[in-house]
Amino acid sequence: MIDSYQHKGLRKKLVEVIQEKGIKDKRILEAIGKLPRHNFMDSGFIGFAYRDQAFPIGSGQTISQPYTVAFQTELLQVEKHNKILEVGTGSGYQCAILLELGAKVYTIERQRQLYLKSRALLTEMAYKPYFFYGDGYAGLPNHGPFDKILVTAGAPEIPEKLLSQLKIGGRMVVPIGGSGGQVMKAIDRIGEDEYKESEHGYFAFVPMLKGKQ
Ligand code: SAH
Repeated sequence: MIDSYQHKGLRKKLVEVIQEKGIKDKRILEAIGKLPRHNFMDSGFIGFAYRDQAFPIGSGQTISQPYTVAFQTELLQVEKHNKILEVGTGSGYQCAILLELGAKVYTIERQRQLYLKSRALLTEMAYKPYFFYGDGYAGLPNHGPFDKILVTAGAPEIPEKLLSQLKIGGRMVVPIGGSGGQVMKAIDRIGEDEYKESEHGYFAFVPMLKGKQ
């Protein structure tokens, strides 16, 4: 996979765009500046890889908009060595950003084709998350609890099983809503049965669906 000077130049501009939109965390901006997003896109869309837009990645799914990836990552307050569950591997781009920040990532995808494709790509790029093919609504009870949980599809309501897999002191970031759009929520687990919720603006994700495909 070639990463040309042109790609690098476009990426630098993309970082500026995202910064202008309000992303402050230098580590996240650096990760976006480093990661070749064109690797994660279907060949027909490579020319668009450094626009701040979402694009189709097959199986009716999309690679999230870079700003959205940066926003969710910032909200997640990732620290080095954090154990993170990502729901919706999709293209693998968000997963690679979390790994660049030094996290240990468990990523789950319900679409078999995407699971296989992103597993092959990330492995080829020498990224080593733990890959799972399954329904993210159930989470990964045998691998939790997690410091952070990041849901990258729009959930109709807060997935209960995921809350119980969050460490006390941990945070879940999840877009909540239907096909018309979702409100970004951060949920902090502050005690055994105590959670604190905050809202962080409106977004448009593909829906979080039940079961495997
Ligand atoms: N993080 C991805 C975003 C992909 S879009 C990226 O960086 O490209 C959201 C993804 O969530 C899609 O691939 C979709 O198939 C997946 N998804 C939807 N519902 C799911 C569920 N219940 N469990 C796991 N993955 C799910």
